[in-house]
Amino acid sequence: MLNKKKYNVNGDSGIKAQIQFADQKQEFNKRPTKIGRRSLSRSISQSSTDSYSSAASYTDSSDDETSPRDKQQKNSKGSSDFCVKNIKQAEFGRREIEIAEQEMPALMALRKRAQGEKPLAGAKIVGCTHITAQTAVLMETLGALGAQCRWAACNIYSTLNEVAAALAESGFPVFAWKGESEDDFWWCIDRCVNVEGWQPNMILDDGGDLTHWIYKKYPNMFKKIKGIVEESVTGVHRLYQLSKAGKLCVPAMNVNDSVTKQKFDNLYCCRESILDGLKRTTDMMFGGKQVVVCGYGEVGKGCCAALKAMGSIVYVTEIDPICALQACMDGFRLVKLNEVIRQVDIVITCTGNKNVVTREHLDRMKNSCIVCNMGHSNTEIDVASLRTPELTWERVRSQVDHVIWPDGKRIVLLAEGRLLNLSCSTVPTFVLSITATTQALALIELYNAPEGRYKQDVYLLPKKMDEYVASLHLPTFDAHLTELTDEQAKYLGLNKNGPFKPNYYRY
Ligand code: NAD
Repeated sequence: MLNKKKYNVNGDSGIKAQIQFADQKQEFNKRPTKIGRRSLSRSISQSSTDSYSSAASYTDSSDDETSPRDKQQKNSKGSSDFCVKNIKQAEFGRREIEIAEQEMPALMALRKRAQGEKPLAGAKIVGCTHITAQTAVLMETLGALGAQCRWAACNIYSTLNEVAAALAESGFPVFAWKGESEDDFWWCIDRCVNVEGWQPNMILDDGGDLTHWIYKKYPNMFKKIKGIVEESVTGVHRLYQLSKAGKLCVPAMNVNDSVTKQKFDNLYCCRESILDGLKRTTDMMFGGKQVVVCGYGEVGKGCCAALKAMGSIVYVTEIDPICALQACMDGFRLVKLNEVIRQVDIVITCTGNKNVVTREHLDRMKNSCIVCNMGHSNTEIDVASLRTPELTWERVRSQVDHVIWPDGKRIVLLAEGRLLNLSCSTVPTFVLSITATTQALALIELYNAPEGRYKQDVYLLPKKMDEYVASLHLPTFDAHLTELTDEQAKYLGLNKNGPFKPNYYRY
């Protein structure tokens, strides 16, 4: 269990209730269309086609073609237990990590609270996630909490080489670089687990490739593994399949479907990043532009709010009368796509559905109409239908194509219909802070759980843990939470320290 003083739910001061993780198995949420920010392009097959430009590199020199696998590198303490592009970039990476720390208050708070007490003492965590400054803050927090970590990248493109170097310099065995081949990818994972004198007892995975590798190559390792924490839709889905087939041999935590993560990944992240993605690719001005947003779920709501705030005229399409009514109540015109397709300047899809924008719609769009997607996959816009001989494709910028009709009309297609914000903008660190904190707490919980609390199954995070993650982020805003009085708690039938809502509550 977590230390009672140091992990209280209500902040640093006072004797408030501690986080108590629920014993009971929560129902596994199977919504395969939901996808987390970092759960995009994990497996090799996907990652080789998805781009991930937010992992900008500041020091990469393209003339260094030598594979990191062929280099002999040592950090300043003489260790060579790592494989990164260039250890000399460590200083740049350290600056990136320090910047990320500013926007990851909950992890920094966990570090402070852990002083003296190490809830992860003895934990040997093998991780496979995007290697970015934010992941580095997570890894260093896990280290501060007592864990030993070995890490590989879950995506062949997303590693920030400078950050990987900084981690290697500070003693973390990291095996990752931007632009790995498929063979490199598995080699790096193998270097994390196939080590003499070191065996992992916890897995932190994003996409399930690491878990899959251990199942395939080192199944005996699971005898020592206490649990798996999985972040992505894909990975959770794989775990669920294993569980269904009776093959899951350790408890697993589904971090992806925790309430805070869902809200931040979908609503707030999209509200913050839609304008950034459009601006970077097109330099457009939003005021007065006519925009149609397809789908008024969490992502659609975020996009609409941001565009409305910039003075755009926003139309919404929906199939669900409840979301449609919400759009109306929020002041948007609910239309069918056909009704506005000739007049709009921008078309944004966020339905998680397929063929929402068809070739017929694309044919009818006006000249210079911008077309992009914020939904899970690149099937929302029928991009394949544009690959016909009479249309000319012109790559005008990275991630920007002009598709030109025989009469000279052109549409501006962004990121070839893949997720705009993940392909063309950065995602706020604060969003990742929520996920990383949830991951850290899930690891602590699984590692410290008494025998029998968790069976060989997939668990959703207890609501109390979600509330705790949120509470750790409140001090950033100097937010002051009201406490229930005893009388009020009794009246509502609640424990004063949470959980405050039933599992079916929709935030
Ligand atoms: P959601 O289910 O809350 O919303 C989708 C909405 O689209 C629903 O209200 C649904 O009724 C509507 N819809 C379905 N088909 C439609 C159609 N043909 N025309 C109009 N509306 C239609 O889902 P969400 O959380 O908003 O996520 C939407 C998509 O965005 C998913 O694919 C999700 O994986 C993805 N996503 C993207 C990001 C990102 O960073 N870009 C983040 C989170 C989720």
